[in-house]
Amino acid sequence: MKEILDLQKSLFDSNITKSPTFRVAQLKKLKRVLKDHEPELLNAVHKDFMKGQFNTFLTEFSGLYLELDSYIKNVPKWSKSERAKTNLLNLPAKSYLIPEPLGVCLIIGAWNYPVSLSLAPVLAAIAAGNTVILKPSEITNHTSAVIAKMIRSNFDPSFFAVVQGGVQETTDLLAQHYDKIFFTGSVAVGKIVYQAAARHLTPVTLELGGKSPAIVAPDANLNIIVKRLVWGKFLNAGQTCIAPDYVYVHKSIEDQFLARLSKEIDHAQFALEKDNYAQIITTSHLERLIRLIDEQKLFKGGRYDMPSRFMEPTVLTGVTHSDKVMEDEIFGPIFPILTYNNIEEVISFVKSRPKPLALYLFTESNSLRKKVLTEVSFGGGAVNEVILQFANENLPFGGVGQSGMGAYHGEAGFRCFSHYKSILQKPTWFEPTLKYYPYKRWKESLLKNILRFS
Ligand code: NAD
Repeated sequence: MKEILDLQKSLFDSNITKSPTFRVAQLKKLKRVLKDHEPELLNAVHKDFMKGQFNTFLTEFSGLYLELDSYIKNVPKWSKSERAKTNLLNLPAKSYLIPEPLGVCLIIGAWNYPVSLSLAPVLAAIAAGNTVILKPSEITNHTSAVIAKMIRSNFDPSFFAVVQGGVQETTDLLAQHYDKIFFTGSVAVGKIVYQAAARHLTPVTLELGGKSPAIVAPDANLNIIVKRLVWGKFLNAGQTCIAPDYVYVHKSIEDQFLARLSKEIDHAQFALEKDNYAQIITTSHLERLIRLIDEQKLFKGGRYDMPSRFMEPTVLTGVTHSDKVMEDEIFGPIFPILTYNNIEEVISFVKSRPKPLALYLFTESNSLRKKVLTEVSFGGGAVNEVILQFANENLPFGGVGQSGMGAYHGEAGFRCFSHYKSILQKPTWFEPTLKYYPYKRWKESLLKNILRFS
């Protein structure tokens, strides 16, 4: 690991990665390599958790290709200096910001979208002119092996290297000194990463998780929004960091809502062989999920199969804050439904918990929308939609508080892996004496006058 790091440091110091032409060429190459390996990666994801090909293409590849195209197009523009205004006190002068790459970046990926959560930050790091060491998740080991092979056979490790492994290898990686660490995963491991980074004062981006609420107001268009909720909750069998974790539905429409929910789940026919579902990633995750099902509150589903690591979409009703399912992020196909009479109850509950990664609000009311979006803090979200805020590269993606720090995607990703050097550039043909000693009364009143006009 130290050897790779040293190789990358010396490549970075050679300044080659700083050239926008080099960056664009590497991104184009990565796009070609990804396209060539697409069938192999789709197979590997299927081996890891039986996710169907279209499902994987939709949720992993389409976004990556869009981001790649956006970076290829925009790198020349984003890597230029940005002008800033010069204040009166400093005139005459030019002010500007120079985006510079940070250096050697460690990127640690999660298993639930093993291709895109590993490679999307890599694209941003390369676009910004850095070198990359990627550690994909050991849990989706087939996918990680293909990623490692694909990168090793196409990129020099002094520029882009993949290190495979689990806790021990990640711990060893974290002992080294990087210029940036980008981590996607759980809150618990996020804290370990943050502490490791603190030893070297390395900047970090933490893309973590949490319990993301969905709030359904009495005026919500149930015909449409229940479809959207069912799609987003059971995508990847609920193993999505921004999946709606639980629903708070207005008491007055609970029956209608549940009837529609049940109908939509039946209509989708979630099954491993139907290209619309996924296995629960490990037996221990399935066991954890089983423990969250309270038979007394079971409204729909609840069946599972250990050998095939399958759990059917499961809905719990009459759920209260003290139920086990409301403790931690569910990360599986269990949908707890809570009811409310007054939006204040919902707001105060959400605010009493760690700040969520996402929040989804279903309403036609502008005033309710403004109220919830103003009063509740969360990473990002959607109104009358779920998950798709992630698919707009113009919206920076990230958490706040316990759900993470920093953001990426599109230009935000470029900025996440850059430092903006502030420069004040002065000509030498003008030299006011104001700042120089000796200090006199006329200098003081002139300065105060200038400040009044600044
Ligand atoms: P995880 O935290 O268990 O693992 C993430 C990475 O950390 C893996 O590469 C793993 O090898 C490494 N790791 C695990 N334990 C470690 C330890 N003790 N020391 C050092 N490294 C260690 O997360 P996961 O199970 O892969 O992913 C699920 C979690 O990730 C969920 O909480 C989910 O919400 C979150 N997530 C967040 C996002 C996001 O973009 N915000 C995306 C996907 C997943």
